[in-house]
Amino acid sequence: MTTPPFAGPPAAPGSVALVGGGPGDPALLTLRAARLLSTATFVAYDRLAPPAALELCASDAELLYVGKLPDRHALPQEELSRLLADRAEAGAAVVRFKGGDPFVLARGSEEAQECVRRGVPVEVVPGITSAIAGPAYAGIPVTHRGTAPAFAVVTGHEDPTKGATQVDYAALAAFPGTLVWLMGVGRIGAIADALIAQGRDPSTPIALVQWATTPQQTTLTSTLAEVAADVAASGIGSPAVTVVGDVVALREEIAWFEHPTLPAPAHRRPLHGRRVLVPRTREQASALAERLRALGADPVLAPTIAIAPADPAALDEALDRLADGAFDWLALTSTNGVAALAAALERAGRDSRALAGVRVAAVGSGTAAALADMGVRADLVPPRFTTAGLLEALRAGPPASILLARADLATATLPDGLTAAGWTVTEVEAYRTVRPDALPDGVAADLDAGAIDAVAFASSSTVTNFVALYGGAPPAGTTVVSIGPVTSATCRALGVPVDAEADPHDLDGLVDAVLAACTVDAPGHGTPGH
Ligand code: SAH
Repeated sequence: MTTPPFAGPPAAPGSVALVGGGPGDPALLTLRAARLLSTATFVAYDRLAPPAALELCASDAELLYVGKLPDRHALPQEELSRLLADRAEAGAAVVRFKGGDPFVLARGSEEAQECVRRGVPVEVVPGITSAIAGPAYAGIPVTHRGTAPAFAVVTGHEDPTKGATQVDYAALAAFPGTLVWLMGVGRIGAIADALIAQGRDPSTPIALVQWATTPQQTTLTSTLAEVAADVAASGIGSPAVTVVGDVVALREEIAWFEHPTLPAPAHRRPLHGRRVLVPRTREQASALAERLRALGADPVLAPTIAIAPADPAALDEALDRLADGAFDWLALTSTNGVAALAAALERAGRDSRALAGVRVAAVGSGTAAALADMGVRADLVPPRFTTAGLLEALRAGPPASILLARADLATATLPDGLTAAGWTVTEVEAYRTVRPDALPDGVAADLDAGAIDAVAFASSSTVTNFVALYGGAPPAGTTVVSIGPVTSATCRALGVPVDAEADPHDLDGLVDAVLAACTVDAPGHGTPGH
């Protein structure tokens, strides 16, 4: 990600930044939050801080989960505040990464107080609070001209049936505006009863938005009188934002992110909530995941190949020859190849000047960018990001000698085509592709449990590797979508029934096929408890 200059300076050693992560959708992170996350050396994060945002952290940053776990309580607040200040005093650039806004029902102010008392510099980065974003993503504005001129955000942490609470239900019942509860799902019945007892109309509309802003977002609408029963029947639970007031009715008109009866053409997210497994072998798979995500799906990425180091001797030897001027060209076909090259230079005690006399070809903008990071500008980046594109581009010039640093499993198209055109080709294995030991944590269990709606196979090798890793075909209820006839044939050969085949046989076709296959049974989808 390129951070604009106005995102501010990097996280400072010896300081603490209290950073709001927004309600869940990582796209709602602020630029400042992204800048600090990517430069912190120590990050303490919560259960509701958007997990995907942690991918911005440096690979050598220390990440500590400080939220609740099923088998243990969260770290007591005083201990946590001390820990942050301790780590900063020990020289770390500390980010305390919280869900929503750090000062909205989040105890960030106590962490700030501890730091200030101890003379540790503090920065506060507000985040988009779930109190506003949750309703907004359900199509409910917290204020609306003529309906609600104000809104209040209230903790649901306190039990309204216990005597001494800080929350004044009489005042809230009389409040002329929208009421928003955080942490209130478990006590929703008691909260609604307390409002009715203090004079609010039992027919006042109320909405609960669970997992707001994520592909799992689910909204329940009801009234104060009926909400307890409706919540119990729907199975809605924490985390959810509760909105009380006439603005809730506007959801019927404004809902844009998720709604059970939103008509498909108006609905920008027809795959909302669908979990689609994307077995991946190449960068291509992340493009597929991105498109599915844009349609509202929750893509589950399952790498079916892993990168392993190759025997370094061959690459080291080739690099020596390259530095001696043995080759006119060096071709790299992936970022993995560039990484292997960088490691080989490092091993030899050389740097990019070893490439001074050679022309460099790169397949793909990612490969070219990785080279640029080493200070090497690729001389040739073919317009088509494939080895066939590279072959075509190289053959446009006079035959020369070329070093190809590639994966062990790379096809022979490029070397054969160049040799046929009179080139002298030296191939060296820069890295190996291996099958990982297992699917990522939880993926097999989710498949078994029917918690994956569809699997999108973008190539034959993903099918072969998936079947080997999972131990067979996906369960009967899981929709299998294939990118084309070759992939479908591999499916059938391995006993995987194909429900839909893409046409055209490309990523767009595959996305369309997933869409068609997953939305035929649409009625009821997106309703609570789905
Ligand atoms: N500082 C946070 C609130 C922390 S309290 C903020 O500004 O959003 C935790 C409560 O926030 C949860 O119990 C829930 O009520 C709400 N919450 C946080 N993330 C949510 C989400 N994605 N969907 C629904 N509610 C959420």
